[in-house]
Amino acid sequence: MSLALQNVTLTYPDGDGRLTALDNVCLDVPPGALVAVTGPSGSGKSSLLAVAGTLVTPDEGDVVIAGASTRSLSQKQRAKMRRNEIGFVFQQDNLLPALTALDQLLLSADMRGMRVRAFRDKAIRLLEEVGLAHAAHRRPHEMSGGMRQRVNIARALMADPSLLLIDEPTASLDSERGKEIVAMICELVRTRKLAAVLVSHDLSTLTDADRIVQMRDGRLSRVGIVAS
Ligand code: ADP
Ligand code: MG
Repeated sequence: MSLALQNVTLTYPDGDGRLTALDNVCLDVPPGALVAVTGPSGSGKSSLLAVAGTLVTPDEGDVVIAGASTRSLSQKQRAKMRRNEIGFVFQQDNLLPALTALDQLLLSADMRGMRVRAFRDKAIRLLEEVGLAHAAHRRPHEMSGGMRQRVNIARALMADPSLLLIDEPTASLDSERGKEIVAMICELVRTRKLAAVLVSHDLSTLTDADRIVQMRDGRLSRVGIVAS
């Protein structure tokens, strides 16, 4: 599935005026591609993800998901789209302290229409894919920051989203661990043909991205093409 932001402008109330968080932003993400967005704090990166994920409606412009405009969708239709099609990964992993890695995944997704056994098998396969086959029964405090972030990513994939939106996944990791996580996300994105946007202020972790764009004061500019 593809994602396109078309001339998106987003403002927030700011005293007597408005603050422009996204200024006429255009971005195309084809299936199987990971676009990395970098830029200083306050430049609009999280706002861009919130708009791409239909959590926030822009003042102007459109978000096109799988070729379909989301502009005229109702709140209910948006919620359904998020549940079925969009995986969110945030910097804070929000894992429940009492639950094992496997249970975090089982708790996360809607298992209606799925047999318990198949659901569990899927969670185990996902943990294997993110390199945590050995840690399925560990609780968050028994895992490193990198392992917790892998659980966080696996959890976002439980509902088989076609669009993955990831906000600062490496913020609490050193540069080497950060690079490994980004490389793993790129691999998942390519094999599953997801469209993915990953936000990071740390350019050094982004060498595996298909494209890197720079955000500054709500505007996007291209940094360079890392791969074709
Ligand atoms: P980043 O993720 O790059 O740090 P954000 O998208 O969080 O940037 O913020 C962009 C700008 O919008 C900042 O100036 C921030 O203070 C402002 N902002 C973000 N969210 C809100 C909000 N809910 N209400 C008002 N201003 C906001
Ligand atoms: Mg942010």
